[in-house]
Amino acid sequence: MKIAQRIHISGVVQGVGFRPFVFRLAIRWKLSGWVRNGESGVEIHAEGDAAAVKQFVQELTKHPPASAKITKLVINDAAIQGASDFEILESTRHDRPTVQIPADLTVCSACLSEMFEPVNRRYLYPYINCTDCGPRYTVIKGLPYDRPYTTMHAWPMCLACSTEYYSPADRRFHAQPTACPECGPHYYLRWWEGEIHSDEKAIKKTADLLRSGHIVAIKGIGGYHLACDAENEKVVWELRRRKLRDAKPFALMVKDIETARTLIDISAEEEKLLTSSARPIVLARAHRQLSGVAPDNSDLGVMLPYTPLHHLLFHFDAPQVLVMTSANRSSEPIIYKDEEAIKGLEGIADAWLIGERPIARRVDDSVVRVSSFGNIVLRRARGYAPLPVAHLPSNRPILALGSDLKNTVALVVNGQAIMSQHLGDLMKYEAYMSFEQTVRDLLSMYDVQLKETIVAYDLHPDYRSTTFAHSLEAYQHIGIQHHRAHVATVLAERNAFEKQVVGVAFDGTGFGDDGAIWGGELFVGSIVKGFERCGHLRYAMLPGGDAAARVPLQALAGFFGDVPDLAINVGKRLSLPERFFTAVKMVEKRLRTFPTTSVGRLFDAAAALLGFTDAISFEGQAAIWLEHLARTAPLEKVYPFPWNRKELDYRPLLKEMVEDRLNGIDVAIIARAFHRSVAEGVFKSVRSLGATYGINTVVLSGGVFQNSLLLSDLKELFLGSDMTVWIGKEVPPNDGGISLGQAALVAATHLKAKTL
Ligand code: ZN
Ligand code: ZN
Ligand code: FE
Repeated sequence: MKIAQRIHISGVVQGVGFRPFVFRLAIRWKLSGWVRNGESGVEIHAEGDAAAVKQFVQELTKHPPASAKITKLVINDAAIQGASDFEILESTRHDRPTVQIPADLTVCSACLSEMFEPVNRRYLYPYINCTDCGPRYTVIKGLPYDRPYTTMHAWPMCLACSTEYYSPADRRFHAQPTACPECGPHYYLRWWEGEIHSDEKAIKKTADLLRSGHIVAIKGIGGYHLACDAENEKVVWELRRRKLRDAKPFALMVKDIETARTLIDISAEEEKLLTSSARPIVLARAHRQLSGVAPDNSDLGVMLPYTPLHHLLFHFDAPQVLVMTSANRSSEPIIYKDEEAIKGLEGIADAWLIGERPIARRVDDSVVRVSSFGNIVLRRARGYAPLPVAHLPSNRPILALGSDLKNTVALVVNGQAIMSQHLGDLMKYEAYMSFEQTVRDLLSMYDVQLKETIVAYDLHPDYRSTTFAHSLEAYQHIGIQHHRAHVATVLAERNAFEKQVVGVAFDGTGFGDDGAIWGGELFVGSIVKGFERCGHLRYAMLPGGDAAARVPLQALAGFFGDVPDLAINVGKRLSLPERFFTAVKMVEKRLRTFPTTSVGRLFDAAAALLGFTDAISFEGQAAIWLEHLARTAPLEKVYPFPWNRKELDYRPLLKEMVEDRLNGIDVAIIARAFHRSVAEGVFKSVRSLGATYGINTVVLSGGVFQNSLLLSDLKELFLGSDMTVWIGKEVPPNDGGISLGQAALVAATHLKAKTL
């Protein structure tokens, strides 16, 4: 019996080879009808023998393409149209797109083998890709995902390419960025002797330059990298000097997983991450030191090649371990435009390997580490963004603008929360430009009107994201407290809107309800009911405000607040720099001094006490230094860090640390004990709140929980308790996760208003 069915599939189904897959399946089951991309996903009309249609639907859901993610499948009976064959129809665009923009995909093995096949027409072609692999988010200019809406529209396909593109059996059937050496873009090298315009020669020469100790700017998927030989100490330090980058670790790209094993310890989970299709930078324990790559750090950030170009570089004998750091000056965001790379990297790069395909938007490499509680995404960008991170109960669009540091923005459309890539520190001009562009892009791609949208923003009155929020003519503006957003993020990712938890938000800085700088907060509540602040780190004084975040010595002076005599004594005995004494005086006189509960600053203070007396050159540097110092020592003691039902009191902790320090105890031992003491403080306070409120789930969020030593201590402590610990999954614990939490809290408010 002949039947017809209309099938609607939503999820990540565009740009992942879904239509060709449907087509081939339809042919196999001798069905007629059509498939097309719509704004809400893929739509199929299938008609044929009833049993065949049933088989077709089964296979459709059982074995979709590797990168596809089906979130919803709706099947309706339809009238028989009587078509004789199955075809792929043009995309439609009539109402708000709800299809998801796919993330960039690493080059697949089929494309790699073609690229190294001398008889293949794409032999050594650096832009090879197919329906299973290649760039997506970084080439998409609009939805639906079709070649005219990508940065490839400037390269009309040659006959051979378009034959593949229109042949349903081909693996490049409707592969939007497809190209070949005949018709597609190319790479060229710009160096001191001129330009080399041949993919092969340019890439070969780049490998030569890298081998001979030069620094080359290389265009990738989401921006430019600065590359050099990581095992050549001289060039690595030269890169640091030219980039004005004192200490921040450089990421590495290695030829293959075997090479990675010579540098870092790789567990099964780490191997899975390294070889996943997102190909993030994986932070793991180093067992080999490379001078200048990650000073004072016992981890290395390593990634595997992810574009055809990277594979070609290693093929042509580039050094097996390359520094591959985002190209920029100091801490500006990654450069992605050719003119800016040429101008902005003058005096930093010796040569430029430039690809002609434009990058639609800057997308950094993602950074992930494996912790005792699972993977922690430290920077969510290439390979992950802009995939949805949660379902939120809101029919009204929500635009959440995040925090000013490590900014990301989130857009909730049709109940899906889409999160942007890491955009960086909005105080930097370029990052701020990307922020505005990303907001515009997301709104226009999903066809969302501002006047129907709720805008969520951080309560900090001086944040640029806050000012920007108020400049938008939106349906409504809702300010969300920073640390409540941190906790809500973790719950939103788990779809736990009514779950009552103890929420611990420890970070560097966030604007509190009382106008103080918070960062050591304990909440009780749920997303729907809201979070009540039930405790916090005892307030300390922070001399100099923002400057104190850059100078750990100032934080130390602040935590000595009540006892200036002790502070002076310690300062003298440890011969601390003058800056410390000035800060102590400021605290004593309450001069430009601000109250804070920041645990981030407590870590800074501990680092300063144990020898980190410089200003920091990147966020979190002192805490990272302290963690790595602590990892070199065994756990010998725990300091008191009492919880008095309202406050975690750091004074006894600090006092004993000071005594040990003055008694000449090894600073590593003290650092190790400090970590354990903080973990015990968290454990005790959470247990106490849990018992009081009858709650057995705790959420840990905020930048402090990027510390893997602290997490492993917490894991040990909570293991023996009846409490479950939740941390972020794909969303960062740092301020990169704030936008999702804001959106979730707004969605809950909206939900409440509707049901009341
Ligand atoms: Zn491929
Ligand atoms: Zn071609
Ligand atoms: Fe924060």
